[in-house]
Amino acid sequence: MSSIGTKCVQAGYTPGNGEPRQIPIVQSTTFKYDTSEHMGQLFDLEASGYFYTRLQNPTNDAVAAKICALEGGSAAMLTSSGQAANFFAVFNIAECGDHVVASQSIYGGTFNLLAHTLHKMGIELTFVSPDCTPEELDAAFRPNTKCVFGETVANPALTVLDIEKFAAAAHAHGVPLIVDNTFPTPVMCRPIEWGADIVTHSTTKYMDGHGAGVGGAIVDSGNFDWMAHAEKFPGLCTPDESYHGIVYAEKFGNAGAFITKATSQLMRDFGSIQSPQNAYLLNLGLESLHVRMPRHCANGQAMAEFLAAHPKVEAVNYPGLPGDAYHELAEKYLPNGSCGVVSFEVAGGREAAERFMAALRLCAIETHVADARTCCLHPASSTHRQMTDDELRAAGIGPAMVRLSCGLEDAADLIADVEQALARA
Ligand SMILES: *Cc1c(COP(=O)(O)O)cnc(C)c1O
Repeated sequence: MSSIGTKCVQAGYTPGNGEPRQIPIVQSTTFKYDTSEHMGQLFDLEASGYFYTRLQNPTNDAVAAKICALEGGSAAMLTSSGQAANFFAVFNIAECGDHVVASQSIYGGTFNLLAHTLHKMGIELTFVSPDCTPEELDAAFRPNTKCVFGETVANPALTVLDIEKFAAAAHAHGVPLIVDNTFPTPVMCRPIEWGADIVTHSTTKYMDGHGAGVGGAIVDSGNFDWMAHAEKFPGLCTPDESYHGIVYAEKFGNAGAFITKATSQLMRDFGSIQSPQNAYLLNLGLESLHVRMPRHCANGQAMAEFLAAHPKVEAVNYPGLPGDAYHELAEKYLPNGSCGVVSFEVAGGREAAERFMAALRLCAIETHVADARTCCLHPASSTHRQMTDDELRAAGIGPAMVRLSCGLEDAADLIADVEQALARA
């Protein structure tokens, strides 16, 4: 099964003779065994099977297998949210006393997670500009650095990560590159093909695509050689005393160690499992992902071009625009399009942006992005309203900046709505 569209529809679950065509929702917390010995083998990770849905569930695993196939990975897991996915991906290899290098152009929730919550857990962080030189990137590493983190297309800044540059630096320092690929999805970009080792998702966004369920996913490429850097990754390369002395990298190899450890330690202890019901809904979204993404991109492109030519718009960020600062990187990593999210500055400042928002009819005011229905956010009056204009500018968000997530409607209707709202701004 080689093409991405066929994988969207069919990968992850193949029913046997007479079995359900749709992925069954295994709505069960637990699983029954005939003998304690058999269950003991599961606990020892000597046999594969299910025992408790806090760790693993067959519905989730079928959907994770589809996402794994889409990204070209070796193993994958679902999590309860994108936040949980990014937390697990980093915390699976970094612990108290360690250090992480991250692009500063990332989702606000991930920024808080890395800069504040992980800091409280004793993990230090160095942010670098996504546009840094290889020398500046190199200088960010320390002997205790355990991974590098970035977003393929950042939410909401819409910067494009030079994946090869970040992968080369990570690998030169013997650590993996983790890439959050939420905005492009594997339909538009597969970071593993460019050297990323671990890929994360907020499946809440385009993968679900209908605003139905919060969720996340982690995909391991299986390419990182943990044992070659065993001194950096004791959690994977020395016995896990909380799990009968298993050495994950030995027992499960490069292909399985990362996800097995994240499941048997982090999912066991933090319990951030996706509900099987949500996994089922996620799979319905995945079945049409390859049909929806080109439409989101086409609507984003049409909207960006309209905005760029409009006198009441001061600036537009969209990697598909020829004049955009990230256009060249987008042509390399995202040749068929990036996503449907466009950000722009309304001329006339904060008040003009507020008037624009109030005049919208079709585009709904929501904190969400990447939905079938177009949604729009003015950070300065909502998510970032505690910040002054100066603080906003320092965070790279202008007081008149609007984030518009183009849905699947007809582009002409979306543009007509934005046009009439700009006339009232
Ligand atoms: C939304 C988002 C997240 C967080 O995901 P949740 O599912 O809301 O927890 C992480 N990364 C990116 C790029 C996002 O857009």
